[in-house]
Amino acid sequence: MSEARRELVAAGAKLAALGLSPGSSGNLSIREGDRMLITPTGADLGDLDPDGLAELSPHGDHLGGPKPSKEFPLHGAFYRRDPAATAVVHLHSRHAAGVACLAPWSPRSAIPPLTPYFVMRVGQCPLIPYAAPGDPAQAELLEALDFDFRAALLQNHGPIASGRSLAAAVDAAVELEEVAALLLGLGQHVPRLLEPAEITALTTRYGTPWDH
Ligand code: ZN
Repeated sequence: MSEARRELVAAGAKLAALGLSPGSSGNLSIREGDRMLITPTGADLGDLDPDGLAELSPHGDHLGGPKPSKEFPLHGAFYRRDPAATAVVHLHSRHAAGVACLAPWSPRSAIPPLTPYFVMRVGQCPLIPYAAPGDPAQAELLEALDFDFRAALLQNHGPIASGRSLAAAVDAAVELEEVAALLLGLGQHVPRLLEPAEITALTTRYGTPWDH
């Protein structure tokens, strides 16, 4: 069994244990050479089978294993956009899904720069207009956005985060849920946001994208 399969199973168990995969929702993938391994349709992230993962080409051709999650086009879009992305995590975690139902803070980020860890681990995170789950047109739209980002909120649906490693993608998805909970908790209060110079100091050091 490959290391990638073991990593994917462990990441699914971690996200499920954190309560971020309600009702067996969410899907994970990892890039392995010229293919991606992705969780199968209807999979429980807390109980993945390392030998029961779907194998797809970056363009979504089915190469082996069970039928993939129908949300696979979004995973492929992140891999095609960013050659350095090696893993993608998509969840229906409650707070991030809640913020995905609100108007975005800006065209490039649904969530404002509230905390350094959001800027360091996630970076700007655009809201992608609503489409039915699995609609390839939404993935094409995400792929075509002409600015840098590693995570997004799918409108009225939930968060999706990529990473240079599966651990980084998991951390980004967890941080996205945390900052979304913080934003919702602030309610009508007007928060102080990080200043542009404070953001630049973080993005320069940690390499995450944020356009002012
Ligand atoms: Zn979904």
